[in-house]
Amino acid sequence: MTAILTDPEEAAALLRRGELVAFPTETVYGLGGDACNERAVARIFAAKGRPRFNPLICHLPEAEAAFAEVIADERARILAESFWPGPLTLVLPRRPGCRIALLAAAGLDTLAVRVPAHPLALALLRAAGRPVAAPSANRSGRVSPTTAAHVLEELGGGIAAVLDGGPCPIGLESTVLDLTSRQALLLRPGGVTREAIEAVIGPLAQPEPTVAPERGLRSPGQLASHYAPSLPLRLAASRVGPEEALLAFGDPLPGAGLVFNLSAAGELEEAAARLFAGLRWLDAEAGRRGLSGIAAQPIPDRGLGEAINDRLRRAAAPRA
Ligand code: AMP
Ligand code: MG
Repeated sequence: MTAILTDPEEAAALLRRGELVAFPTETVYGLGGDACNERAVARIFAAKGRPRFNPLICHLPEAEAAFAEVIADERARILAESFWPGPLTLVLPRRPGCRIALLAAAGLDTLAVRVPAHPLALALLRAAGRPVAAPSANRSGRVSPTTAAHVLEELGGGIAAVLDGGPCPIGLESTVLDLTSRQALLLRPGGVTREAIEAVIGPLAQPEPTVAPERGLRSPGQLASHYAPSLPLRLAASRVGPEEALLAFGDPLPGAGLVFNLSAAGELEEAAARLFAGLRWLDAEAGRRGLSGIAAQPIPDRGLGEAINDRLRRAAAPRA
């Protein structure tokens, strides 16, 4: 059963325990989970039923807290001063030692951060005392919810609670601005207009035709920071040799030179939570030991397995 709450403290207690709580922002209702808890983040993807991991926005109660997780430049600071709290999301490089789960940014080295302008959202974030990762609180492929009733129709039963703050005042998603290169780039138009941003930091880069709008990401060729292992990755392996590292799932295949098990119990949620950290560790360690590649055991293509397999296929694809 999904509880309907009006007390942000109660909702924050659930978040701190790794549960999912939908909450109102000035744009749409978000599906929140503790951004530092890989399992909670995996649960967000499971609840949305999305066949891919897309990077999530991390919500914080003030700019200072946001800039503790990412590296802010001068542009980021004046934009924060001008538009936060408000419907502007900034994509910036992760700070070394950043506590946020790799899965929250779908393995990217960048992070999207925002301070929302809704009093209940701010009360929740302050009480939670940690960054909250939240996509819109709808099932994949459906419109973003702007009332608690919409959230229940979409996700009822699959989440611990919804914090009811009535209808969202803007009903339009946040503007997403990429500040990871010298020229700022609008990834998604939203509540703060291009003109308003340009009045503060000057002209934005023209949108490129290669931008994939449904993902808000630049074309794969420009995704230099999107993590792919440096060693070749072989999928659906049924055997493995001592010259290879093994990305295991369930009972590991015998004979590998090095093993990282995504989930010994064969649980998809645990595997999703460990995927990006596991790939990074295995790649680095296998490289140090001079192994020739990584073999991945098959992962069932249901539930979160679909998104895990999508990510592995892209990591295994030939590189340009
Ligand atoms: P939603 O979760 O529906 O509010 O959508 C979040 C938007 O932010 C999507 O368009 C994402 O692709 C975008 N986004 C989040 N994190 C990043 C990131 N690190 N780099 C680029 N885009 C991001
Ligand atoms: Mg959405």
